[in-house]
Amino acid sequence: MDVVTSELFLQLKQPLLVLNGAEGQSVQANSAAQQLLGISDPDLTKAPFWNPEIALQLNQPAVAGRKEIGFGGCRLCCEYSPISHPEGHCLVIMLSQPGSLTQDLQSFSHIIDSLGAYVYCKDNNYRYTFANHEVCELFGQPMSQIVGCTDDRFFGEQSARKLIEESDRQVIEGGQVIRREEIVYIPPLDEYRTYLTVKKPLYDQDGNINGLFGISTDISGQKLIQQQLYQSETKLTAILNNVGSCIFIKDRDCRFTYMNRKTEQVFGATADAVLGLTVLDILGAEGEEMYRTDRQVFEQGAAVKVLESFNAPQGEQHFWTEKVPMRNAEGELDAYIGIATDITDQVELERKLTDTNRVLQHQVAQVTQLTDRLHQQANRDPLTQLYNRRYLDASRQELIADASRRDQLTLLLIDMDHFKRINDELGHQTGDDVLQLLADVLQQGCRSSDLVCRYGGEEFIVAMPATTTEDARRKAEQLRHQYCQAAFALLPEGWHSTFSVGIASYPQHGENFEQVVKSADRALYRAKAEGRDRVVCAELVREE
Ligand code: GH3
Ligand code: MG
Ligand code: MG
Repeated sequence: MDVVTSELFLQLKQPLLVLNGAEGQSVQANSAAQQLLGISDPDLTKAPFWNPEIALQLNQPAVAGRKEIGFGGCRLCCEYSPISHPEGHCLVIMLSQPGSLTQDLQSFSHIIDSLGAYVYCKDNNYRYTFANHEVCELFGQPMSQIVGCTDDRFFGEQSARKLIEESDRQVIEGGQVIRREEIVYIPPLDEYRTYLTVKKPLYDQDGNINGLFGISTDISGQKLIQQQLYQSETKLTAILNNVGSCIFIKDRDCRFTYMNRKTEQVFGATADAVLGLTVLDILGAEGEEMYRTDRQVFEQGAAVKVLESFNAPQGEQHFWTEKVPMRNAEGELDAYIGIATDITDQVELERKLTDTNRVLQHQVAQVTQLTDRLHQQANRDPLTQLYNRRYLDASRQELIADASRRDQLTLLLIDMDHFKRINDELGHQTGDDVLQLLADVLQQGCRSSDLVCRYGGEEFIVAMPATTTEDARRKAEQLRHQYCQAAFALLPEGWHSTFSVGIASYPQHGENFEQVVKSADRALYRAKAEGRDRVVCAELVREE
């Protein structure tokens, strides 16, 4: 080698050995080869690992070839190229790591096969020039049977034409890069599959398109999940939009992040306009109470139940609202879901019921008052307001029962004397006044336990429980005097008015009320007969 060749030889990046047959077994290593072999001298025969065996293996016939040879502990691939020159014959040996290229290719091929995607190349006539393991599996053919064929063999004529028209042609003829979803009928599977496909043009050394490279990923599973998700989302949205309650979600800043249709209707605004806003933004001061309970959910980290009312565009609205905190995947409380049930109708109904109740209560009070008055009217004499005969009749059993249990009962039967005269001469009104006067005297003069009653016309009965005949007689005399004085004061000059009294007691003067009244009546008759204006007691029954 001349100096220049020698220098070039030494500097070449490719590790080279030159075996010069003419000079015996001289073996020169260039710098790259020295580095590879770990030696510092270009003369390989001076290397510590050099031995005759290496010399023997290197001393190949002068033909091109390839062989792996051990250099000490290192095995290298040697590619021989015999060179003839004027001075004789030499052998150039290119060194490389054995099998490195093959290994790279193998691992690359392995990667392509285990991509989980369909990788393929086609030429300008849409014929396969490469198909990875996945494609071979799908077609059920080895690569040798696929290469050179077009898609119509595997997908059928119609699908193959569709593939060419929709994507392959645009790549090969238009030079476009296609990225699209393809739905392809797969005959071996007898089903349609969805692929996410990327197809790019391949170029030759001159820059002309000579085919395409494609990667297709089967996304049928994802598509199905996507479809199911879409369907369940659609269902959920349909449900949420058709429930009668307002359903909404608010973030930590109490801003709406979701609202269903009912909520939109209540606010009289679309979600687009309201999402991102707080109730304060929407309702102003009126939303302060709602905002306070919104914040409470995040402060307490627990559900809040609250009655909310506000003036919506369609009038006052009332809601029973439950605000339930929501935690994210990290367990942080970052939102709450609100469910507000419209109870406006119920509140209105309750209000109406309360009003109706009030009116009813008033009416009941009026009716009670009227009933009381009626009751009173039924039992009282309208002129004197004393109890009437009806009431006495209703009370007699009780009076007798009471007298049987405790003590005797005494009756005063009172009849006005010559009352007709007053009527006839002083007028009916004066007659009424006199009757009224006697009623007052009797009422005021008797005990509250005594039953004073107008028995009819100008006759009165006073039933005196637990009163002896004698005590009653004294009382009758007293009343007679009181009345006489009062009547004298009431009537015109020259007039006076008196009454006669018949007294009878139970059980002395009768076995029952009627008998006692009869005894009293007989006593009264005697009082009249004896000259009126007097009190006469009944005689004992056994004496009669
Ligand atoms: P005697 O002393 O015998 O009892 O005579 P008298 O006039 O009191 O009795 P008589 O039975 O003859 O008359 C009773 C009168 O009382 C007849 C009736 O018109 C009158 N009278 C009855 N009820 C009322 C009344 O509510 N108002 C008035 N002003 N008069 C009455
Ligand atoms: Mg009478
Ligand atoms: Mg009379």
